[in-house]
Amino acid sequence: MRANRRARVALALAAVMLLTVAGGRLWLRAGASITHTEGSPSFVAITFDDGLNGDTTRAAADTLGRYGAPATFFVVARTVVEQPELARRLRRQGHLIANHSYDHPRAKKSDLRYTQAARAQATFYDAFGECPAFFRPPWGVQTPFVNAAVKRARMRTVLWDVEVADWDETDPARLAANVLAKVRPGSIILLHDGEDGHLGADRSTTVAALPAILEGLNARGLTPVRLDQLLGTPGYTSDCR
Ligand SMILES: [Zn+2]
Repeated sequence: MRANRRARVALALAAVMLLTVAGGRLWLRAGASITHTEGSPSFVAITFDDGLNGDTTRAAADTLGRYGAPATFFVVARTVVEQPELARRLRRQGHLIANHSYDHPRAKKSDLRYTQAARAQATFYDAFGECPAFFRPPWGVQTPFVNAAVKRARMRTVLWDVEVADWDETDPARLAANVLAKVRPGSIILLHDGEDGHLGADRSTTVAALPAILEGLNARGLTPVRLDQLLGTPGYTSDCR
């Protein structure tokens, strides 16, 4: 009798442990983020974080345009309120705008609501009549609550697989060489045209490195495309309010 009860307790414990592990897996999968894509033999995506940043963003977009290379800009939504014409210009030039929060705070583990994603979506909707479908959390910090808020706001979280600390770099040639050493088919490249959404941040080394990056990609038969093309899903949604 006692042995029977022990067996039942052991069984119940095993069931709880199994459920916990499976639940944890599901929880993680619900918050899964994209860092690159497989099966993309010749495409890569160049992404910029932390704009809009006035002339720096403009220079980056124009350089990309000269090479016929569309990119994805993860924009701090507050800067769209301040620089609406620049936001419209990026879209006219064929670049994709994505969501990088409203004003770039670091997500706290205790923040159960994480209103940044939806607040940014509302700002983008007011400016464009549609919302980005891709989100990148500031500093890449994800919590279960951030992931849930991103899903509610009809977005997918996109991180990166190529990062070279371009914000610390002073030599454009070295920056480009570091990117080209890491990139592979299907890569998502992280660069910065701003700093936390502050207007006037110096990202001149990154902008100066773009021609060498684009020429290097071309030499390897890699074509830069927007994230929507790389991932094969729409870049904007109107189902976001
Ligand atoms: Zn950022």
